[in-house]
Amino acid sequence: MPAEWMPGATRLDVGGHAPTDGGPPKAIGHITWDENTTPARPLDLVPYENLQSWFGRNPSGIPSAPHILWDPFTGRFTQFLPASSRSKSLADKAGGTRTNRAGAVVIQVEALFFPYCRVNGVVYARLVDTPCKGWPALLAWIRSWGVPDRWPMGRPTDFTSRRNEEIWEEEAGWYAHAHVPENHHQDPGSWPGFATEEAPDLDATQAKQLAELHKALVPYMGWQYKGNGKVDAWAQVGIAANQSTAAVKAISAVGSKVDGLKTAALTDAQVAMIADKVAAHPALAERIAELVADKLAARLTD
Ligand SMILES: [Zn+2]
Repeated sequence: MPAEWMPGATRLDVGGHAPTDGGPPKAIGHITWDENTTPARPLDLVPYENLQSWFGRNPSGIPSAPHILWDPFTGRFTQFLPASSRSKSLADKAGGTRTNRAGAVVIQVEALFFPYCRVNGVVYARLVDTPCKGWPALLAWIRSWGVPDRWPMGRPTDFTSRRNEEIWEEEAGWYAHAHVPENHHQDPGSWPGFATEEAPDLDATQAKQLAELHKALVPYMGWQYKGNGKVDAWAQVGIAANQSTAAVKAISAVGSKVDGLKTAALTDAQVAMIADKVAAHPALAERIAELVADKLAARLTD
């Protein structure tokens, strides 16, 4: 049985627990959107404690309490309702889907954020630009409730709303508030990816480049090698490559170079050494490309 209360979250139970309606498990991404600002007029982020007290103690805030308030700048969490109860951050019109209950779980997360909020003098345009501290722990807990790593209506990349009641009723996964039927809010605008700190997700171009590189390198490098850590060598290169598109391009270039070579695979020890270096210093991605090339060159001249 997964944990009703997220490990590590402050518990501020608002009571009024009520069962969900069953069906595909879901999670909903919101931002608190406390201020309307512009790039020219940023405002300081609202204190976490204000939201905690709004949803947790204020008679006007409790009726719209989510499960989780998340501060992506510090990794703090407050939980107002247990996972298996419905929470209350979605509008629900009479008839049709009961939005807040439409799944085995409908876990709602309010990220403390508004566009062009300022924290320690830095202005943040999108949630994904913040440190997203604590996200891996939050994701792990939500996964434990069976919510799959997918966005049936697409991962939010702006404040466009698209709603489809059929998909909503049939498909498990993550939904933006902007993608929930019977609602008119357009948040959250962006949301962190499903990979964890150990393996950040790539954008489409990077993913394609890495897939090509993977294909090219497998016969020579034995990327099926599994390291001692949480991820294998290939994932570690992925992490490093994610540091910059330039690094991915550098590795891809080596990929095509390697593809032209006719040589045996490196030993596990050699791959392990490279993987360890990447793991210890993710910024070494570009150097890894050279290391790979050097190793192969050395083998050719042996
Ligand atoms: Zn919302």
